Amino acid sequence: MTKKLLFPFLSLFALSVAGQAPPHVPYSTQPILSETTTKISDHVWEITGFPNIAIVVGSRATLVVDTGMGPKNGATVARVVAKLAPNNSKLFLTTTHYHTEHVTGEPGFPPGTVLIRNAVQQGELQKDGQVLTDLFRGMSAQNKDLLAGVVLRSPDVLFDSEASLDLGGGVTARLLWLGGAHTRGDELTLVEPDHTLVSGDVVQNKTIPNIFGEDGTPTEWLATLDKVAMLNVAHVLPDHSAPGDGSLVAAERALIIAIRTQALALKRQGISVDAAAREISATLRKQHPDWPDTNAATFVKSVYIDPADPH
Ligand SMILES: [Zn+2]
Repeated sequence: MTKKLLFPFLSLFALSVAGQAPPHVPYSTQPILSETTTKISDHVWEITGFPNIAIVVGSRATLVVDTGMGPKNGATVARVVAKLAPNNSKLFLTTTHYHTEHVTGEPGFPPGTVLIRNAVQQGELQKDGQVLTDLFRGMSAQNKDLLAGVVLRSPDVLFDSEASLDLGGGVTARLLWLGGAHTRGDELTLVEPDHTLVSGDVVQNKTIPNIFGEDGTPTEWLATLDKVAMLNVAHVLPDHSAPGDGSLVAAERALIIAIRTQALALKRQGISVDAAAREISATLRKQHPDWPDTNAATFVKSVYIDPADPH
């Protein structure tokens, strides 16, 4: 992970912290999670924040997806879990991807929490997680405080492509690794019988897709979305945008295809990546005036360097 790759990410958060309009505006930039929940479907609740947290409640066990930034936020999530499901004796914890605000709350969860994630994501976390967490520490005094002394433990369970958790009362959570997208280790959680997908960054709502450096490619993201489409979900809970219905999956695919098609056409014409990014971002702004941000610069760059599209 080079400084060059980190720069767009760093500038995004530096601007957010300064309170100016950042180039990418997440659904919420509030890193201190509240104890307020929103019900998404029969067995799934959301804490809206940076990032959104999913809590899946069965009759015997509870699953949390993503931790929030640092142990204080993890402890907040654990308190919400205890209120939502006071009689459940077992708590599972998984994470959508290895980025700091999704994983570093883990030490705030109670002893006995079963930490589970896919092997590709764990590999990315071991390789790049510390560098990214140090970067987050440098962004604000608040982050530095939240992330003080964080030491991450190894997962209790690692899986390759799928792990199914029986939470009791007919509630199951299928943890799925279907391929790369926002990162290589993006994990999806399908909750049945709700038909609810906890989608991480893979499917978002009114949000420009973003690949951090070379952690994934647009063609991999599209291949992953083809598999997600086959799940026929009814509800989608993304990590950095508002929840929605199953149509978000097709909308994500259409958005990526639209940006990729335009970018490849401009690339073939010999247009520079910066000029292409300006033109495509302007088009998206006209098409989606209600979106918080339509800056597609990093994704256009990802299309330009995608080894699957050499020409
Ligand atoms: Zn991320």
